[in-house]
Amino acid sequence: MKDQADILQPLPEALDRASAELASGRLVAFPTETVYGLGASALIDEAVAAIFEAKGRPHFNPLIVHVPDSATAAQHTVFDERATLLAEAFWPGGLTLVLPRRTDTPISLLVSAGLDTMAVRCPAHKVAHDLLKRAGPLAAPSANASGKLSPTQAAHVAASLGTGHGHLAMVLDGGECAIGLESTVIGLPIDGPATLLRPGAVPRKDVEAVLGYELAQAESPDQGSESTQGRSSPGQLASHYAPDAPIALNVTQFDENDVVLAFGAEGGPLPPGSLNLSPTGNLREAAAHLFSMLRALDGVAKGRRIAVMPIPHEGLGEAINDRLSRAAAPRP
Ligand code: AMP
Ligand code: MG
Repeated sequence: MKDQADILQPLPEALDRASAELASGRLVAFPTETVYGLGASALIDEAVAAIFEAKGRPHFNPLIVHVPDSATAAQHTVFDERATLLAEAFWPGGLTLVLPRRTDTPISLLVSAGLDTMAVRCPAHKVAHDLLKRAGPLAAPSANASGKLSPTQAAHVAASLGTGHGHLAMVLDGGECAIGLESTVIGLPIDGPATLLRPGAVPRKDVEAVLGYELAQAESPDQGSESTQGRSSPGQLASHYAPDAPIALNVTQFDENDVVLAFGAEGGPLPPGSLNLSPTGNLREAAAHLFSMLRALDGVAKGRRIAVMPIPHEGLGEAINDRLSRAAAPRP
């Protein structure tokens, strides 16, 4: 067993090796436009189980199955008209659809964690697409240890999962993730309304514009992502995406006990080591920098707290604020 997973450039030989590793039940981390995924063949129970083990996930929560196209998604799920409409508008891209499982699908039941639904997404990143074409449907949560910051660079994956986890065979290096935030998750139950289960890479308003009506709101959106306990304690955000340093949100006054994650105009000098998500106040740029800047601030905080300036709640701001709220939630 190796200590450190190889980080490889996604050349054809590396993609062939990755497919062979996946077919033998091992895990391969790969880039997507949202964040890096920890991939396993969705057809092999042991491989899917190894994802939970490698992440140290305390509960068997459902995983997103990544597919090369909507035809593949329709082989495994009941892909209704709403799904077709949304897939045509947003796939390949950062939108995940939770649909009824087809009874004849060979996809591991573990990805659904006991539910009769399956989450599917067709990612846009070329490396992800090339890998899915070769290796078939891949279950892939974010490639980080449970509860920690999501990886937006190959080196983040190696740092979070690279040592001591024999199952992680390799990391395909696709550079920095263009979006940097996880996908938007939409539930499409057969008898129920389209529901926003997690804000993410595709703004809510864009989805609503395609559907022609407003999304229903999940009662406690995605609180159980890494720990299902969150679902039964409404109002309490499950700790997730957490750096080691404490985090305070919506801070406008700073002192020497802070290192600042700024957004937009800074209005004066900031404590040393502070970073700005987007000096021009661009939410897309802020989303792309969010996890890597939290990681960098965690490295320089040295006992200081990370103080985050207010981020507007519109467009991608909904997803950015969702991740920040969890990062700031009480730790287990
Ligand atoms: P991640 O593990 O970060 O990729 O997040 C996966 C997200 O998809 C989590 O918010 C899960 O709760 C959600 N998800 C995956 N499958 C299902 C499903 N069958 N039903 C509801 N939510 C799901
Ligand atoms: Mg995650």
